Amino acid sequence: MVEVKNLTKKYGTHLAVSDVNFNIQKGEIIGFLGPNGAGKSTIMNILTGYLSLTSGEVKIDGFDIMENPEEAKKRIGYLPEIPPLYIDMKVREYLNFIFDLKKVKFPKKAHIDEIMKLIKIDHVANRLIKNLSKGYRQRVGFAQALIGNPDILILDEPTVGLDPKQIIEIRNLISRLGKNHTIILSSHILSEIQAVCKRVIIINKGRIIADDLPETLSDKLSNDHALVARIECNESDMLEALKTVQGVKSVMSMGCKEGGTFDFLIEPEDNTDIRKAVFERVVSRGKSILSLNSNKLSLEQVFLRLTEAETYEESRKLLGYDAEPETEIEIQAEIEVEEEENE
Ligand code: ADP
Ligand code: MG
Repeated sequence: MVEVKNLTKKYGTHLAVSDVNFNIQKGEIIGFLGPNGAGKSTIMNILTGYLSLTSGEVKIDGFDIMENPEEAKKRIGYLPEIPPLYIDMKVREYLNFIFDLKKVKFPKKAHIDEIMKLIKIDHVANRLIKNLSKGYRQRVGFAQALIGNPDILILDEPTVGLDPKQIIEIRNLISRLGKNHTIILSSHILSEIQAVCKRVIIINKGRIIADDLPETLSDKLSNDHALVARIECNESDMLEALKTVQGVKSVMSMGCKEGGTFDFLIEPEDNTDIRKAVFERVVSRGKSILSLNSNKLSLEQVFLRLTEAETYEESRKLLGYDAEPETEIEIQAEIEVEEEENE
């Protein structure tokens, strides 16, 4: 549905997006996650044809966004970071205007009525946009994106500035739309992405540093099946006792948490389930385990670790990826650079 190859965008000399690659299949709901300035809006603006690319290729349903912009754009509904609302228009009037602008071929009134009903703004059809709450204005923004029934929806930070109740409403709306649309959603807030997206693309400094399921990312960053045990004990005695449990590779104390208790990070040999053995050892020393958890990271922690890494290579390493070039194009580029250097 969406194919992006070696996408690069420079604003003057500033490299905002660098060699980005991804494909999105029909029906997927994808989250672009990245801190402010990462390049999310730039990528979205290029996908929707609002911004030209410096190099690379973008295809929407097989149509090249540069060569065949009309066909490509027809398939996309776009809700920009700042929705293009004309606040002195009434809701229906504005949607009629967008309908004409997009040169949609459907019966006008029926199409707009249907969208207003779906988005639940039919009761404010005759209100001026400037008199609507922020949440309602955002819904009008969704409505304009849906005009023409595009298959793909691109939503740039759709819940920014909304209150918690409005956020939940918009989130539910996105989930509903996700049943029969392909959706790309951006956010710098994790819970947002986690709530609606099956796949997450983490972007930092203009590059994709991860593209995976949220669970897989957290697995990759966590030590395999490492445990965190909170034990009421003497720290150094317990450290020694845990180290000799069968199947344990390493033990580290994470310090005192509550009075008289310590947290230990216990790493097993490959794929060994050490929970029972750890429990028995602690009990045999006459001590109590207060909690025993797997050391899995939340998506929040994953995101922080990845974006805090100074370089692309560092963040890839955290995920256990090889820092070596992966694609043939990258390898080819390296060879060319070497050849140039040798000349
Ligand atoms: P995000 O949406 O992830 O916050 P953007 O795509 O808006 O990030 O910005 C990516 C980078 O490009 C930032 O460093 C930003 O300052 C820069 N940038 C964005 N738009 C422009 C522009 N029109 N001119 C120059 N630089 C820009
Ligand atoms: Mg942005």
